[in-house]
Amino acid sequence: MFFIETMLKHLGLREYFSEINTNPSFVDEQGRLRIQPYHDFKNSSHGCTTGTCPPNMCKGLIIERIQASEGNKRIIYLGDGAGDYCPSLKLKESDFMMPRKNFPVWDLISNNPLLIKAKIHEWSDGEEFEKVLLSLIDTISTDEKSAFTSTYLKMPSTIDVSAIPKVLPVQQ
Ligand SMILES: [Zn+2]
Repeated sequence: MFFIETMLKHLGLREYFSEINTNPSFVDEQGRLRIQPYHDFKNSSHGCTTGTCPPNMCKGLIIERIQASEGNKRIIYLGDGAGDYCPSLKLKESDFMMPRKNFPVWDLISNNPLLIKAKIHEWSDGEEFEKVLLSLIDTISTDEKSAFTSTYLKMPSTIDVSAIPKVLPVQQ
C-alpha cells in the first residue's frame, strides 16, 4: 500500500482513488521496503478454487466485497495477469472487462469467453486503452442519464387510490 500510495501522491492522483487493495508494505529498520502478502496464506488459504489466483491474493474476493458494498454500480475492470481472471468471472452482464491483449488474463478469457458475463473490450497499448476506457465511461454515463429520464417520466404526479387493487375475499 505504501509504495502505490506514494506514487499516486507524487503524481497528484491520490484523491481519484477511493481505496487501494494491495499487499501491505513497510520500511524496516535498515530502510528496506518490505512487502507482505495481502492474504496470510501461511496460516490459511483464501479459499478460492478458481486455480488462477496467487496464494497471497484473490482479487475475486475483493470484487465480491466491493459489489456487496456498492450495490448496483457498474464496474469497468482492467487487467493483464492471471490473477485478474477470477474477478472477471464475478462481473455482471452490465459490467465491462478490459483484458490486455496477448497477456495471461486475455489468454484465459479467450479459452472460453462464454464464462464471462461482462462485455469484453480488449486493448494493446496505452493509446488504445485510453480510447476504450473513455468510450466505456461515456456509455455508462449515457445509460445512467437515460435510465434517470425514464424513471422520472414514469413517476405519477398523483396516485389514484381506486386503481390500487383491493384485497380479494378468499372463498371458503
Ligand atoms: Zn480467486
